[in-house]
Amino acid sequence: MKSKITSHSFIGKKFGKWKILKYEGFVSSAIPKYKWQGTHYFKCICKCGKIKKIPLNNLTSGRSNGCQSCSKEIHGLAGTYLYGVWQRIMKYNKHKKIKVSKRWFDIKKFVYDVNKQLGPRPSKKYKFIMIDYKNGFFIGNIKWGVHFKKIF
Ligand SMILES: [Zn+2]
Repeated sequence: MKSKITSHSFIGKKFGKWKILKYEGFVSSAIPKYKWQGTHYFKCICKCGKIKKIPLNNLTSGRSNGCQSCSKEIHGLAGTYLYGVWQRIMKYNKHKKIKVSKRWFDIKKFVYDVNKQLGPRPSKKYKFIMIDYKNGFFIGNIKWGVHFKKIF
């Protein structure tokens, strides 16, 4: 069967944090008229070890790119001030070759370090400041401040 050949070619493929382990079968559409459409399901393992059956459509479309708690972690940061700062830092690193602590290429480690070392942003007046502009982004060279320059 055609569907079997294609489904097997997905084994081991990665979609975001998911890795496909096994083909779980085809579930026909609940609507009799569209029975032939349905969905292919795959057993997937998330980077954190969680295993779940995911419809192929959700994998290929990117609608599901990790287990609920892993994708929540990312979505929980989107739109926050630090997430914006992190995006700008990454851009700076790329275009202006400003050094960035290797750890901070991981957004989660960046947020963790900032919260641990600097604490939460005191108020909206405060910006993320690099103490010595030439040295780059790493713990020890950053602070919260209301300085008008060198801010993120
Ligand atoms: Zn996970």
